[in-house]
Amino acid sequence: MLVGISMHAVDFEHFFADSTLRVDYTFAGDAGHTGIFLDAMSLDPAGWAGRRHHLDVMPLEGNGSIVMRAASDSTVIYRTTFSTLFSEWLSTPEAETTPRSYENVYLLPFPRETVDIMVTLTDSRRDTLATYNHRVDPTDILISRPSASTAVTPHRYIHRGGDSHNVIDVAILAEGYTVEEMDSFYTHASQAVESMFNHEPFASMRDRFNFVAVASPSIDSGVSIPRLGEWRNTAVGSHFSTFYSDRYLTTPHVRAIHDHLRGIPYEHIIILANTDEYGGGGIYNSYTLTTARNARFAPVVVHEFGHSFGGLGDEYFYDNDVMTDTYPTDIEPWEPNVTTTPDHPKWHSLLEEGTPIPTPAEEADRWPVGVYEGAAYSSRGVYRPADRCRMRDNDTPAFCPACRWTLRNLIEFYTNPQSAPTWINN
Ligand SMILES: [Zn+2]
Repeated sequence: MLVGISMHAVDFEHFFADSTLRVDYTFAGDAGHTGIFLDAMSLDPAGWAGRRHHLDVMPLEGNGSIVMRAASDSTVIYRTTFSTLFSEWLSTPEAETTPRSYENVYLLPFPRETVDIMVTLTDSRRDTLATYNHRVDPTDILISRPSASTAVTPHRYIHRGGDSHNVIDVAILAEGYTVEEMDSFYTHASQAVESMFNHEPFASMRDRFNFVAVASPSIDSGVSIPRLGEWRNTAVGSHFSTFYSDRYLTTPHVRAIHDHLRGIPYEHIIILANTDEYGGGGIYNSYTLTTARNARFAPVVVHEFGHSFGGLGDEYFYDNDVMTDTYPTDIEPWEPNVTTTPDHPKWHSLLEEGTPIPTPAEEADRWPVGVYEGAAYSSRGVYRPADRCRMRDNDTPAFCPACRWTLRNLIEFYTNPQSAPTWINN
């Protein structure tokens, strides 16, 4: 599914300067009402690391979008999509009783002229939850600029595929590493990149990526583990037991993440937590957070990056579980590797003729791509493209063909101006 219909190519140089407008929003509310609020705007002097083509379209829908229009004639000049922890929280029991707020930060190309920005949040039924509009005058004196004395966090390139203008810039951020532990952080960052490049399509498209390790120091070593009563003072204040789920490691301090990255070109974020606990999380176009000293670090960091970079859904489920709040079976989810319409899955172009639908798991050897029932936490009504995949379990060493196809097309979308941005069919 292509979000937005491109009528003509938007000329980057005409509309944008080579710098980044960072916009901080608060998403707040409860299960009944949600609102979007502007907190702050700032200029990041590191230049614009994002794409300079296909500006007005996005291949994936996410649970939210930002659309930037020229104020002069309402032409869409930039679009991005994302998911947010706030959307996940809305389906928790707490959201029924206790309104809360969540930090969110987005990077936009810095406009040359006045623009109108519209932020939209959608729910699991793909209905609109909230919209928010604001006008941005690029000469506004209250768009903050970093002072000359603002220090850039120490960083080191682990892999350089090319100039940040042309490739996908991934920042790997240290969480729970003291200054004395930074050698260990750089080792873990290298392991993460190595694991990424052990997977297709990242391996054969390595020249489309930069990976920069950013050594944000923590006062305490390790991260907070609330179920053990352990709280630590760390760079981005992450903790386990997000939404009271023991293995779910996230941070509510999204502004702190971006503060540590100021002055460094980045588009995607992987946060490595210095602990051997098992856990993590990945949120589409937001961040990946995972634990670097756990035995399953190598597969998990790639799985979570599948979420945060690729917008891929989880392909796992448990027998007899059906989670219709997260994935209603009468709605086609936007995630490219799960479907509720088995007769016409998004990956139908990859199906061999004669593939039985649903495809029996016992025949997985015969059908590397099929329509297998059980995905996205539900054993019934939601389907996955392969029996086994990096998005299902830690033992399978690769992404399934449909996930590889999605990732390859996304990388092409972001890095190849000649790519046709119409590839995800529905
Ligand atoms: Zn897959």
